[in-house]
Amino acid sequence: MAEAAQPTLSLEEQAKLPTCISCNRLITPWERGVAFLCPNCGEVLIWRCSKCRKMGVPYKCPKCGFTGP
Ligand SMILES: [Zn+2]
Ligand SMILES: [Zn+2]
Repeated sequence: MAEAAQPTLSLEEQAKLPTCISCNRLITPWERGVAFLCPNCGEVLIWRCSKCRKMGVPYKCPKCGFTGP
């Protein structure tokens, strides 16, 4: 399947975007990324892109070091 054309973002817009904690990619508004608080410390908002979520790429909390699927 071909990827749908995506609008380009200005640098200013990119700076506001969250990044995926697993692959460090910017999570674009039209992508279905997820954000949740770290289940261990509850203090860090963890963002994951749809790809990493789908592939079950592990993440690590930068604060407490908790890793999860
Ligand atoms: Zn990712
Ligand atoms: Zn944590």
